[in-house]
Amino acid sequence: MSTTVVQGIGVSAGSAYGPVVRAGNPVTPPDNEAALPAAEVEPLIRGALEAVAKDLENRAASAEDTAASILSATAMLARDPGLADNAVERAVSGAGPATAIDGATQDYVNQFTELGGYFAERATDVRDVGDRAIATVLGVSPPGVPPMEKPSVLVARDLAPAETATLDRALVLAIVTEEGGRTSHTAILAAQMGIPAVVKVSEAKDFDDGHMVLVDGESGEVHLDPPPEVADALVQRRERRNKVLAGSTGPGTTKDGKAIPLLANIGGVEDAIAAGKADVEGVGLFRTEFVFLSSKTAPTVEEQTEIYRKVFEPFGERRVVVRTLDAGADKPLAFADLGSEENPALGRRGLRLSAELPELLDAQLEALSAAAHLTGADVRVMAPMVAIVEEAAWFARRVRENGLPKVGVMIEVPGAALRSEHVMAEVDFGSLGTNDLAQYTMAADRMQGELSDLLDPWQPALLDVIAAACHGASVNGKPMGVCGESAGDPLLALVLVGLGVTSLSMAPSKVPLVRYSLACHTFAQCQRLAHLARSARTAHDAREVVREHASADFTAVL
Ligand code: PEP
Ligand code: MG
Repeated sequence: MSTTVVQGIGVSAGSAYGPVVRAGNPVTPPDNEAALPAAEVEPLIRGALEAVAKDLENRAASAEDTAASILSATAMLARDPGLADNAVERAVSGAGPATAIDGATQDYVNQFTELGGYFAERATDVRDVGDRAIATVLGVSPPGVPPMEKPSVLVARDLAPAETATLDRALVLAIVTEEGGRTSHTAILAAQMGIPAVVKVSEAKDFDDGHMVLVDGESGEVHLDPPPEVADALVQRRERRNKVLAGSTGPGTTKDGKAIPLLANIGGVEDAIAAGKADVEGVGLFRTEFVFLSSKTAPTVEEQTEIYRKVFEPFGERRVVVRTLDAGADKPLAFADLGSEENPALGRRGLRLSAELPELLDAQLEALSAAAHLTGADVRVMAPMVAIVEEAAWFARRVRENGLPKVGVMIEVPGAALRSEHVMAEVDFGSLGTNDLAQYTMAADRMQGELSDLLDPWQPALLDVIAAACHGASVNGKPMGVCGESAGDPLLALVLVGLGVTSLSMAPSKVPLVRYSLACHTFAQCQRLAHLARSARTAHDAREVVREHASADFTAVL
């Protein structure tokens, strides 16, 4: 068989070479499935969903941190009374039990998909609950990962969290999925577990058991049946990488000693506990809205204080940068809903929403202040989606009035980046949200997979906007970090530092390679790489020229 190279989205760095093991596709309900009497079918359906919930809870009990909370959240979906009622209603009206569960699940999937963004990606979790319940009523084994005997590359249509969270790291060399996105659970969990992963590889549907694949979780390339010399080169590279990463510890610095703090992005208490144990210099982005995504009503000051206390404690004296609620657009919060908008990403989201509902912001600042005092933590508070200088000044005043001494803004709107000199004069620090900054600079919806080329953080236009933001910060003598996904790209991190970025915040699993990358280059080299990238014509050329001129010590392990 000849080699095929296909392209997906690399979501968890690292590379692997091994035989394909396919995760089984879900069982479908039989055609014309016979209906059962109401008295029989209701307990059957409710029992199946309860069995699924119990199984997920049992797995949660033996899983760690994020995995455990994802499994518990999925168990809650299985216990959602609306799902069971919908299925029972269908069965009582004449559908067979598996068909009824399938229909009810599809209703839920549609609702989640319509909500878009974060919720759309949770649709996989609902589908998994439904598929497991269908297998239960049909008395067959649940869909998913077959028992693995030797280290292999797991290939699946998509992986449900229940599967990803309980994978055996010693046996799963890498994950390749046909579906999924940058922020799907497979991506989040794989990065957290340190398993290389590539998602959205539609060709993977034709990868059969036993064929050899080579997976590059960085570039997103997947080679099917590569020639032995390509595979050998990769295996050697992996060995070199493991060796250097094992020795990559401590604070981030360039080769000539310029300090670039390496920080963690977190989304809640579980993440904080895990990141607190990691070799990071603190938190560069705590996405507080993640904690409240399923809250129907606004959390009280006391509830919030308790959560923030638990988030701050693991970091001792290390900094914790907290972002106030970034609700709206792809992260809707039920208690901060201003009604539907034509273009929510351009609407009243982030700080704009806080300005409409100032009582929410005040409660959050009060709780953050209380938790900071209780723990003595180095808490720094920043606002999402700041566009103009007046917003920065308004936010800074409110934060300081609450006794929180360090205030910052996220720079994720091009307008704020271009006027950074004035915006940064109002606050103590800035943090570039390159995910949104890319979306707004290129007018490309970040949730739209088809536009990923425009959203490429190597786009020279984005680099120009970042350079402008850094210049405005340095004129004021203020630090400017990056907390968007681009900070975790070890090659791009060099360019960011060269452009004037002073700290980098990312998923903790991405820190070691970025630390090594910085350690291989002087600050002057980073500046030169930044200049080369900004002089390139295209995103592709920018990446290529930087890779070409980066230190050989570093590119040898890429
Ligand atoms: C960003 O936009 O880059 C960012 C870090 O914020 P979020 O991804 O939560 O919008
Ligand atoms: Mg953002």
